[in-house]
Amino acid sequence: MTSQTVAELHEQARQDYEAFKARGLKLDLTRGKPAPAQLDLSNGLLTLPGEGVYKSADGTDLRNYGGLTGLRELSEIFAEGLQVPAERLLALGNASLTIMHDTVVHALLNGVPGGTGRWLDGERVAFLCPVPGYDRHFAICERFGIEMIQVPMTGEGPDMDVVERLVAEDATIKGMWCVPKYSNPTGISYSDDVVRRLARMRTAAPDFRIFWDNAYAVHHLTDKPAEILDVLAEAEAAGNPDRVFVYGSTSKVTFAGAGVAFFGSSEANVKWMTGFLSKSTIGPDKINQLRHVQFLKDAEGLAAHMRKHAEIVRPKFDAVDRILTRELGGTGLAEWTKPEGGYFISLDVPEGCAKRVVQLAKEAGVALTPAGATHPHGVDPADRTIRIAPTFPVPAELDVAIEGLATCVRLAGYEKQL
Ligand code: PMP
Repeated sequence: MTSQTVAELHEQARQDYEAFKARGLKLDLTRGKPAPAQLDLSNGLLTLPGEGVYKSADGTDLRNYGGLTGLRELSEIFAEGLQVPAERLLALGNASLTIMHDTVVHALLNGVPGGTGRWLDGERVAFLCPVPGYDRHFAICERFGIEMIQVPMTGEGPDMDVVERLVAEDATIKGMWCVPKYSNPTGISYSDDVVRRLARMRTAAPDFRIFWDNAYAVHHLTDKPAEILDVLAEAEAAGNPDRVFVYGSTSKVTFAGAGVAFFGSSEANVKWMTGFLSKSTIGPDKINQLRHVQFLKDAEGLAAHMRKHAEIVRPKFDAVDRILTRELGGTGLAEWTKPEGGYFISLDVPEGCAKRVVQLAKEAGVALTPAGATHPHGVDPADRTIRIAPTFPVPAELDVAIEGLATCVRLAGYEKQL
């Protein structure tokens, strides 16, 4: 483009931006929260388990202490989706993030099965962090001084050439974060090849662990659910049965913050985890678990419920794609993902522009996830990735917010080319 064309495009973007700003909007695209309409889908929970109903399938009185590993019938509902046999799938508290956090603490303070000691006693502890990734995973590492080594994401998962090389040569790499299905924030699902290589790769650390955060295991947006390989079975077949910790929750199935979280793994790891749990609790909230069993009923009930979510969420994802294509298609200023599930879309803008876009949007009343949040320590070295969380706003507000965002991308992008 000639410099005059760029100047004209910039001027147009500037005018559009001023007009957008003048509307005095207040819109929020920061976090991946379910919309009230999605929460309404689970209102049936509010009157369950119902008067006089408090027993599990085996006759246990759920009003009392006990049942450390949770209700088996609830684990059975989620076993297929999370790809963990029900007998090794613990149904626990209200947040998978707490379990991930505590797993890291236990590993640091006690070591893990197959290890030579406490992670804390090593010269350093490092985790592989596929980027862009989930900021709360990175925050756990940051909190405990765990070094974060960035690994680029490809269209089918983390770049496995990089992963294999790093874990083979460095015994201080003890862990790796993975969101294998409809990843946060790219929405991509790991290919069979990636899962196989993760399960089989040789690691210098005998106590290396993959933190398999399958937060979006059942959160499909299309009629063709993504299928990923069963990582626990693959790891077991490869002679690495204890390599993977699996996490999941109903936070975006029923009520965010008032659901049930799960932990699944090998027999040795589950025993290890149960040992710690028994020191911190006498048992989870089994009444809430019972409510969930009554409400979801079985794996098909869960799938049917998730289809109702998709009916609400999918039009929002479609709208983001439609508006970005209309406003930014062919400009060369942006690329974005088109997820078939999950909660996020990842938008890449020209290098060095993400912070500027987020700032411009903020000044125009559209709150976005801070630029950099997708990377360790909140710093995106290329300053180009923005996470879009389209679920919470009502459709009309989402449309306006994305139009405004696109205007900010044009303004920041042409500004850079001036
Ligand atoms: N993992 C990922 C990848 C997430 O995106 C989220 C929610 N944004 C969580 C975990 C949090 O899950 P929970 O509510 O079970 O703690």
